[in-house]
Amino acid sequence: MTQSPPRAWAEIDLAALQHNLRIARERSGQEVMAVIKAGAYGHGLVEVAKALDPEKLPFLGVANAGEARRLYEAGIQTRPYILGATLPAEREEIAARGWTPCLCSLEEMEHFNRLGQNSPISAHLALDTGMGRGGFLPQQVGTALEKLKTCPGIILTGVGSHLPVADEDPAFTRSQFELFDSLAESIPQQSSPFHIHLENSAGLLDYQSRSTNLIRPGLLLYGISPLPEHQALIRPVMSLKSRVSVINHLPAGHGVSYGRTLLTRDTKAAVLGLGYGDGYPRALSEKNAQVLINETLCPLLGRVTMDQIIVDVTDLSHCQAGDEATLFGKDLLVSELAEKSGSIAWELLTQITPRVERIYR
Ligand SMILES: *Cc1c(COP(=O)(O)O)cnc(C)c1O
Repeated sequence: MTQSPPRAWAEIDLAALQHNLRIARERSGQEVMAVIKAGAYGHGLVEVAKALDPEKLPFLGVANAGEARRLYEAGIQTRPYILGATLPAEREEIAARGWTPCLCSLEEMEHFNRLGQNSPISAHLALDTGMGRGGFLPQQVGTALEKLKTCPGIILTGVGSHLPVADEDPAFTRSQFELFDSLAESIPQQSSPFHIHLENSAGLLDYQSRSTNLIRPGLLLYGISPLPEHQALIRPVMSLKSRVSVINHLPAGHGVSYGRTLLTRDTKAAVLGLGYGDGYPRALSEKNAQVLINETLCPLLGRVTMDQIIVDVTDLSHCQAGDEATLFGKDLLVSELAEKSGSIAWELLTQITPRVERIYR
Protein backbone atom coordinates (compact mmCIF):
# COMPACT_ATOMS: atom_id res chain seq x y z
CA MET A 1 0.00 0.00 0.00
CA THR A 2 1.38 3.40 -0.87
CA GLN A 3 0.71 6.41 1.32
CA SER A 4 -1.57 9.04 -0.20
CA PRO A 5 0.11 12.30 -1.19
CA PRO A 6 -1.06 15.51 0.52
CA ARG A 7 -3.92 17.51 -1.01
CA ALA A 8 -2.12 20.76 -0.28
CA TRP A 9 1.61 21.24 0.06
CA ALA A 10 4.23 23.98 0.09
CA GLU A 11 7.39 23.51 -1.94
CA ILE A 12 10.32 25.25 -0.26
CA ASP A 13 13.17 26.13 -2.63
CA LEU A 14 16.27 26.28 -0.42
CA ALA A 15 18.45 27.35 -3.37
CA ALA A 16 16.26 30.45 -3.67
CA LEU A 17 16.83 31.11 0.04
CA GLN A 18 20.60 30.97 -0.52
CA HIS A 19 20.26 33.29 -3.52
CA ASN A 20 18.27 35.83 -1.51
CA LEU A 21 20.80 35.72 1.33
CA ARG A 22 23.57 36.45 -1.18
CA ILE A 23 21.60 39.43 -2.53
CA ALA A 24 21.06 40.76 1.02
CA ARG A 25 24.79 40.52 1.73
CA GLU A 26 25.86 42.08 -1.56
CA ARG A 27 23.38 44.90 -1.48
CA SER A 28 24.14 45.93 2.11
CA GLY A 29 27.80 44.99 2.39
CA GLN A 30 26.95 43.93 5.96
CA GLU A 31 26.66 40.79 8.03
CA VAL A 32 23.22 39.18 8.23
CA MET A 33 21.01 38.20 11.13
CA ALA A 34 18.51 35.96 9.33
CA VAL A 35 15.09 36.58 10.87
CA ILE A 36 13.47 33.13 11.23
CA LYS A 37 10.76 33.87 13.81
CA ALA A 38 7.27 32.41 13.40
CA GLY A 39 8.54 29.15 11.94
CA ALA A 40 10.74 31.04 9.45
CA TYR A 41 7.67 32.88 8.18
CA GLY A 42 5.89 29.56 7.69
CA HIS A 43 8.82 27.96 5.81
CA GLY A 44 9.83 25.69 8.71
CA LEU A 45 11.97 26.96 11.60
CA VAL A 46 14.37 24.06 11.93
CA GLU A 47 14.69 23.26 8.22
CA VAL A 48 15.49 26.89 7.35
CA ALA A 49 17.91 27.13 10.30
CA LYS A 50 19.66 23.95 9.08
CA ALA A 51 20.00 25.43 5.60
CA LEU A 52 21.47 28.65 7.02
CA ASP A 53 23.71 27.13 9.72
CA PRO A 54 26.70 26.50 7.39
CA GLU A 55 26.63 30.22 6.43
CA LYS A 56 28.13 31.04 9.85
CA LEU A 57 25.81 34.00 10.37
CA PRO A 58 26.32 35.85 13.66
CA PHE A 59 22.65 35.39 14.67
CA LEU A 60 19.33 33.83 13.82
CA GLY A 61 16.51 36.18 14.88
CA VAL A 62 13.68 34.49 16.80
CA ALA A 63 10.66 35.78 18.69
CA ASN A 64 10.93 33.95 22.00
CA ALA A 65 12.71 31.35 24.11
CA GLY A 66 10.53 28.55 22.70
CA GLU A 67 11.80 29.14 19.17
CA ALA A 68 15.38 29.44 20.41
CA ARG A 69 14.97 26.13 22.29
CA ARG A 70 13.83 24.33 19.14
CA LEU A 71 17.03 25.49 17.42
CA TYR A 72 19.09 24.29 20.37
CA GLU A 73 17.35 20.90 20.37
CA ALA A 74 17.98 20.55 16.64
CA GLY A 75 21.70 21.12 17.19
CA ILE A 76 21.83 24.46 15.36
CA GLN A 77 25.17 26.17 16.03
CA THR A 78 24.24 29.75 15.03
CA ARG A 79 23.36 31.86 18.07
CA PRO A 80 19.70 32.79 18.53
CA TYR A 81 18.91 36.47 19.06
CA ILE A 82 15.64 37.20 20.86
CA LEU A 83 13.84 40.00 19.00
CA GLY A 84 11.94 42.13 21.51
CA ALA A 85 11.63 42.35 25.27
CA THR A 86 11.92 39.14 27.27
CA LEU A 87 9.47 37.85 29.88
CA PRO A 88 10.95 37.39 33.37
CA ALA A 89 10.24 33.63 33.22
CA GLU A 90 12.26 33.29 29.97
CA ARG A 91 15.44 34.92 31.23
CA GLU A 92 17.05 32.09 33.20
CA GLU A 93 16.94 29.81 30.15
CA ILE A 94 18.17 32.59 27.84
CA ALA A 95 21.10 33.28 30.15
CA ALA A 96 21.95 29.62 30.68
CA ARG A 97 21.93 28.80 26.96
CA GLY A 98 23.87 31.85 25.84
CA TRP A 99 21.13 33.24 23.63
CA THR A 100 21.39 36.97 23.02
CA PRO A 101 18.60 39.19 24.40
CA CYS A 102 18.06 42.84 23.58
CA LEU A 103 17.72 44.93 26.71
CA CYS A 104 14.57 47.05 26.65
CA SER A 105 14.25 48.23 30.26
CA LEU A 106 16.26 48.87 33.44
CA GLU A 107 14.37 45.99 35.04
CA GLU A 108 15.61 43.60 32.32
CA MET A 109 19.16 44.86 32.87
CA GLU A 110 18.98 44.26 36.63
CA HIS A 111 17.58 40.75 36.15
CA PHE A 112 20.13 39.70 33.52
CA ASN A 113 22.89 41.25 35.63
CA ARG A 114 21.91 38.99 38.54
CA LEU A 115 21.69 35.95 36.25
CA GLY A 116 25.12 36.78 34.83
CA GLN A 117 26.99 37.09 38.15
CA ASN A 118 29.12 33.99 37.56
CA SER A 119 29.32 34.06 33.80
CA PRO A 120 28.44 37.41 32.13
CA ILE A 121 25.66 37.54 29.56
CA SER A 122 26.21 38.97 26.12
CA ALA A 123 23.31 41.33 25.30
CA HIS A 124 22.38 44.14 22.95
CA LEU A 125 20.81 47.47 23.84
CA ALA A 126 17.41 48.13 22.22
CA LEU A 127 16.63 51.71 21.24
CA ASP A 128 13.15 53.02 20.44
CA THR A 129 13.66 55.46 17.57
CA GLY A 130 10.05 55.36 16.44
CA MET A 131 8.58 51.87 16.66
CA GLY A 132 7.03 52.26 20.11
CA ARG A 133 7.32 48.53 20.83
CA GLY A 134 10.23 48.48 23.27
CA GLY A 135 13.67 49.89 23.86
CA PHE A 136 15.13 53.02 25.40
CA LEU A 137 13.99 56.38 24.05
CA PRO A 138 16.80 58.69 22.86
CA GLN A 139 16.57 60.75 26.06
CA GLN A 140 16.88 57.57 28.17
CA VAL A 141 20.07 56.25 26.53
CA GLY A 142 22.33 58.11 29.01
CA THR A 143 20.55 56.50 31.97
CA ALA A 144 20.75 53.06 30.32
CA LEU A 145 24.50 53.40 29.77
CA GLU A 146 25.04 54.57 33.36
CA LYS A 147 23.08 51.56 34.60
CA LEU A 148 25.16 49.20 32.47
CA LYS A 149 28.31 50.47 34.19
CA THR A 150 26.90 48.97 37.39
CA CYS A 151 26.13 45.61 35.72
CA PRO A 152 29.25 43.38 35.60
CA GLY A 153 26.98 40.46 34.73
CA ILE A 154 26.22 41.96 31.30
CA ILE A 155 28.60 42.46 28.38
CA LEU A 156 27.14 44.87 25.85
CA THR A 157 27.88 43.39 22.42
CA GLY A 158 25.60 45.48 20.23
CA VAL A 159 22.84 48.01 19.79
CA GLY A 160 19.74 47.89 17.61
CA SER A 161 16.52 49.62 16.72
CA HIS A 162 13.58 48.90 14.41
CA LEU A 163 11.91 50.66 11.46
CA PRO A 164 8.11 51.06 11.51
CA VAL A 165 7.61 52.69 8.10
CA ALA A 166 10.58 51.81 5.86
CA ASP A 167 8.15 50.74 3.11
CA GLU A 168 5.71 53.65 3.68
CA ASP A 169 7.32 56.90 4.78
CA PRO A 170 10.76 57.78 3.34
CA ALA A 171 10.98 61.18 5.10
CA PHE A 172 10.39 59.70 8.55
CA THR A 173 12.66 56.73 7.81
CA ARG A 174 15.52 59.00 6.67
CA SER A 175 15.25 61.02 9.90
CA GLN A 176 15.15 57.77 11.87
CA PHE A 177 18.39 56.58 10.23
CA GLU A 178 20.03 59.90 11.13
CA LEU A 179 18.83 59.66 14.75
CA PHE A 180 19.91 56.02 15.10
CA ASP A 181 23.32 56.66 13.52
CA SER A 182 24.08 59.51 15.90
CA LEU A 183 22.88 57.52 18.95
CA ALA A 184 24.87 54.46 17.88
CA GLU A 185 28.00 56.57 17.43
CA SER A 186 27.61 57.90 20.98
CA ILE A 187 27.65 54.42 22.53
CA PRO A 188 31.08 53.18 23.62
CA GLN A 189 31.90 49.85 21.93
CA GLN A 190 32.97 47.57 24.74
CA SER A 191 33.33 44.40 22.73
CA SER A 192 34.62 43.15 19.44
CA PRO A 193 32.67 42.44 17.35
CA PHE A 194 30.12 45.08 18.31
CA HIS A 195 26.95 44.70 16.25
CA ILE A 196 24.95 47.76 15.20
CA HIS A 197 21.69 46.97 13.47
CA LEU A 198 18.59 48.75 12.23
CA GLU A 199 17.58 47.58 8.74
CA ASN A 200 14.78 45.12 8.05
CA SER A 201 14.08 44.09 4.43
CA ALA A 202 12.66 47.43 3.29
CA GLY A 203 15.33 49.34 5.20
CA LEU A 204 18.23 47.54 3.53
CA LEU A 205 16.74 47.82 0.05
CA ASP A 206 16.16 51.57 0.07
CA TYR A 207 18.36 53.22 2.72
CA GLN A 208 21.97 53.62 3.74
CA SER A 209 23.19 53.86 7.32
CA ARG A 210 26.65 55.15 8.25
CA SER A 211 26.80 53.14 11.49
CA THR A 212 25.25 49.70 10.98
CA ASN A 213 27.28 46.53 10.35
CA LEU A 214 24.45 43.97 10.61
CA ILE A 215 21.08 43.74 8.83
CA ARG A 216 17.97 41.89 9.99
CA PRO A 217 16.08 40.77 6.86
CA GLY A 218 13.09 38.48 7.10
CA LEU A 219 10.68 38.74 4.19
CA LEU A 220 13.44 39.41 1.66
CA LEU A 221 15.18 36.12 2.52
CA TYR A 222 11.94 34.33 1.66
CA GLY A 223 12.03 35.99 -1.74
CA ILE A 224 9.29 38.58 -1.37
CA SER A 225 10.13 42.26 -1.58
CA PRO A 226 8.18 44.70 0.59
CA LEU A 227 8.85 47.18 -2.24
CA PRO A 228 7.58 45.77 -5.59
CA GLU A 229 10.25 47.65 -7.58
CA HIS A 230 12.94 45.36 -6.08
CA GLN A 231 11.09 42.05 -6.58
CA ALA A 232 13.23 41.07 -9.59
CA LEU A 233 16.35 40.91 -7.38
CA ILE A 234 15.10 37.95 -5.38
CA ARG A 235 13.31 34.61 -5.83
CA PRO A 236 10.21 33.45 -3.92
CA VAL A 237 11.09 30.48 -1.71
CA MET A 238 7.61 29.06 -1.06
CA SER A 239 5.14 27.78 -3.65
CA LEU A 240 1.73 26.79 -2.26
CA LYS A 241 0.19 23.98 -4.30
CA SER A 242 -2.85 21.76 -4.53
CA ARG A 243 -4.60 19.54 -7.05
CA VAL A 244 -7.88 19.48 -8.96
CA SER A 245 -10.10 16.83 -7.37
CA VAL A 246 -13.05 17.07 -9.77
CA ILE A 247 -14.33 19.26 -12.60
CA ASN A 248 -18.04 20.10 -12.54
CA HIS A 249 -19.93 21.37 -15.58
CA LEU A 250 -22.43 23.86 -14.19
CA PRO A 251 -25.09 25.85 -16.06
CA ALA A 252 -25.40 29.64 -16.04
CA GLY A 253 -27.49 30.74 -13.03
CA HIS A 254 -26.28 27.91 -10.81
CA GLY A 255 -24.85 28.89 -7.43
CA VAL A 256 -21.26 28.25 -6.32
CA SER A 257 -20.06 27.72 -2.73
CA TYR A 258 -21.48 29.13 0.51
CA GLY A 259 -23.55 32.20 -0.16
CA ARG A 260 -24.37 30.90 -3.69
CA THR A 261 -22.41 33.18 -5.98
CA LEU A 262 -24.42 32.89 -9.20
CA LEU A 263 -22.65 31.86 -12.39
CA THR A 264 -23.07 34.26 -15.31
CA ARG A 265 -22.23 31.63 -17.94
CA ASP A 266 -22.06 27.88 -18.41
CA THR A 267 -18.92 27.05 -16.45
CA LYS A 268 -16.31 24.34 -16.06
CA ALA A 269 -15.69 24.59 -12.32
CA ALA A 270 -12.60 22.83 -10.94
CA VAL A 271 -12.52 21.96 -7.25
CA LEU A 272 -9.15 22.17 -5.46
CA GLY A 273 -8.38 20.39 -2.21
CA LEU A 274 -7.35 23.36 -0.10
CA GLY A 275 -9.11 26.15 1.76
CA TYR A 276 -8.83 28.50 4.72
CA GLY A 277 -8.11 25.46 6.91
CA ASP A 278 -4.79 25.38 5.06
CA GLY A 279 -4.24 29.12 5.44
CA TYR A 280 -5.53 30.15 2.02
CA PRO A 281 -7.27 33.38 3.06
CA ARG A 282 -11.05 33.36 3.17
CA ALA A 283 -10.77 37.13 2.66
CA LEU A 284 -9.85 36.37 -0.98
CA SER A 285 -13.48 35.39 -1.64
CA GLU A 286 -15.04 37.62 -4.33
CA LYS A 287 -11.82 39.67 -4.67
CA ASN A 288 -10.83 38.66 -8.24
CA ALA A 289 -8.17 36.30 -6.94
CA GLN A 290 -6.60 33.87 -9.40
CA VAL A 291 -5.05 30.43 -9.32
CA LEU A 292 -2.40 29.13 -11.71
CA ILE A 293 -3.37 25.88 -13.47
CA ASN A 294 -1.42 24.57 -16.47
CA GLU A 295 0.41 27.92 -16.80
CA THR A 296 -2.86 29.84 -17.02
CA LEU A 297 -4.36 32.21 -14.45
CA CYS A 298 -7.89 31.06 -13.61
CA PRO A 299 -10.44 33.07 -11.56
CA LEU A 300 -11.44 31.93 -8.09
CA LEU A 301 -15.21 31.36 -7.97
CA GLY A 302 -17.34 32.18 -4.93
CA ARG A 303 -16.27 31.89 -1.33
CA VAL A 304 -13.21 30.08 -0.02
CA THR A 305 -14.36 27.17 2.17
CA MET A 306 -12.42 25.37 4.88
CA ASP A 307 -11.04 22.51 2.77
CA GLN A 308 -11.90 23.30 -0.85
CA ILE A 309 -12.02 26.15 -3.32
CA ILE A 310 -13.67 26.33 -6.74
CA VAL A 311 -11.90 27.75 -9.79
CA ASP A 312 -13.20 28.69 -13.23
CA VAL A 313 -11.35 26.57 -15.83
CA THR A 314 -13.84 27.14 -18.67
CA ASP A 315 -11.20 28.86 -20.81
CA LEU A 316 -8.48 26.25 -20.26
CA SER A 317 -7.91 23.97 -23.25
CA HIS A 318 -6.62 21.17 -21.02
CA CYS A 319 -7.66 20.59 -17.43
CA GLN A 320 -8.52 17.37 -15.69
CA ALA A 321 -8.80 15.91 -12.23
CA GLY A 322 -5.33 15.47 -10.73
CA ASP A 323 -3.84 18.55 -12.41
CA GLU A 324 -1.54 20.61 -10.21
CA ALA A 325 -2.54 24.13 -9.18
CA THR A 326 -0.33 26.89 -7.76
CA LEU A 327 -1.96 29.21 -5.27
CA PHE A 328 1.13 31.39 -4.99
CA GLY A 329 4.79 31.11 -5.89
CA LYS A 330 7.22 32.48 -8.46
CA ASP A 331 4.67 33.41 -11.14
CA LEU A 332 1.88 34.48 -8.78
CA LEU A 333 3.27 36.45 -5.86
CA VAL A 334 1.95 36.01 -2.34
CA SER A 335 2.28 39.79 -1.99
CA GLU A 336 -0.33 40.26 -4.76
CA LEU A 337 -2.74 37.89 -3.03
CA ALA A 338 -2.10 39.69 0.25
CA GLU A 339 -3.05 42.99 -1.30
CA LYS A 340 -6.28 41.53 -2.72
CA SER A 341 -7.22 40.05 0.65
CA GLY A 342 -6.51 43.28 2.54
CA SER A 343 -3.51 41.74 4.32
CA ILE A 344 0.27 41.62 4.00
CA ALA A 345 2.64 38.96 2.65
CA TRP A 346 4.10 38.41 6.17
CA GLU A 347 0.65 37.37 7.46
CA LEU A 348 -0.25 35.12 4.52
CA LEU A 349 3.04 33.23 4.78
CA THR A 350 2.88 32.76 8.54
CA GLN A 351 -0.74 31.61 8.51
CA ILE A 352 -0.18 28.58 6.26
CA THR A 353 -1.31 25.83 8.63
CA PRO A 354 0.45 22.61 9.70
CA ARG A 355 -1.92 20.59 7.47
CA VAL A 356 0.08 21.86 4.50
CA GLU A 357 3.05 19.55 4.10
CA ARG A 358 6.33 21.38 3.56
CA ILE A 359 8.47 19.76 0.89
CA TYR A 360 12.12 20.88 0.69
CA ARG A 361 14.01 21.09 -2.57
C1 LIG B 1 10.34 40.71 12.07
C2 LIG B 1 11.47 41.65 12.31
C3 LIG B 1 12.42 41.92 11.30
C4 LIG B 1 12.29 41.41 9.88
O1 LIG B 1 11.41 42.23 9.17
P1 LIG B 1 11.15 42.03 7.60
O2 LIG B 1 10.29 43.19 7.24
O3 LIG B 1 10.45 40.73 7.42
O4 LIG B 1 12.48 42.07 6.93
C5 LIG B 1 13.50 42.69 11.64
N1 LIG B 1 13.65 43.21 12.88
C6 LIG B 1 12.74 43.00 13.86
C7 LIG B 1 12.95 43.60 15.19
C8 LIG B 1 11.62 42.22 13.60
O5 LIG B 1 10.73 42.04 14.58
